[in-house]
Amino acid sequence: MEMRERPSPNHGPRAVAIDMLILHYTGMTSVAEALERLCSPAAAVSAHYLIESCGTVWRLVAEERRAWHSGMSSWRGRGDINGASIGIELDNPGHEWGYRPFPAAQMAALELLCRDILVRHAIPARHVLGHADVAPQRKLDPGELFDWARLARAGIGLWPAPSAAAFDDLGQMQRLLAAIGYEVPLSGTLDDTTRHVVAAFQRHFRPAGYNGEPDAETCGRIAAVAAACGEN
Ligand SMILES: [Zn+2]
Repeated sequence: MEMRERPSPNHGPRAVAIDMLILHYTGMTSVAEALERLCSPAAAVSAHYLIESCGTVWRLVAEERRAWHSGMSSWRGRGDINGASIGIELDNPGHEWGYRPFPAAQMAALELLCRDILVRHAIPARHVLGHADVAPQRKLDPGELFDWARLARAGIGLWPAPSAAAFDDLGQMQRLLAAIGYEVPLSGTLDDTTRHVVAAFQRHFRPAGYNGEPDAETCGRIAAVAAACGEN
C-alpha cells in the first residue's frame, strides 16, 4: 500500500476511544480538488485518509486526532461520531457529478487500510459504516455502488445471509432499525424521515433497490442485520 502524507490542519482532540470506522466518497470531480478542500482551513472539513481511484492512500490526519468528516450524525444514540471514529474518503464524483463504481485498485487499498486499522483499534463489525448510515437525512455516501459484501468477505463489517423474516407492523421495523443503530422515529408510520432511513439501509445492505420502501426483501435484510448485531 503506497501511503503519502498531506497534513490537514482540520482536526482537534479526541475525548473518547476510537470504536467506529466511517466510509465516505469525496463527491468531487478530481482528487486534487478533494485534497485541497480536505486541507483547507476555510472548508473546516477533513478525514484521516483519502484513497485515490488508483489505490494511492493519503494520510491527512493522525488517527489519535479527531478529524471532521461526519458532521451532524448519530449512531446507537451517540451524537459525536467524529469523536469516536476514523474517517476514510474514497475518490469518487458521487451522485452529483457522475457516480461510478469504485475501481478494484481502490477497493484493494481500502481493504488493506481497514484491516490495518482493525488490528490497531477495537472496532466491532457493526460499527463499520457509511456516512449515509449515520446521517441518513442528508447524505448518500458511499452509496449503492460501494461493495460492502466484498469488505465483509475480508472480515470488515457486516454482511449477514438474508432472512425471510417479516414484520407485523412498521413500528417493529423501526424498532429494529433503531436497535441496529439508525436514528429513526418510532412513529409506526412510513413518514419521510423513516423512508430516508430505509433508503440508507438499502444503499448499504440491499443495494439492488433503494427507494425507501420496506419491501419483503428489505425487511428480511433488516431482521438479518439486527440478528447479526445481537439485537432482535
Ligand atoms: Zn461523507
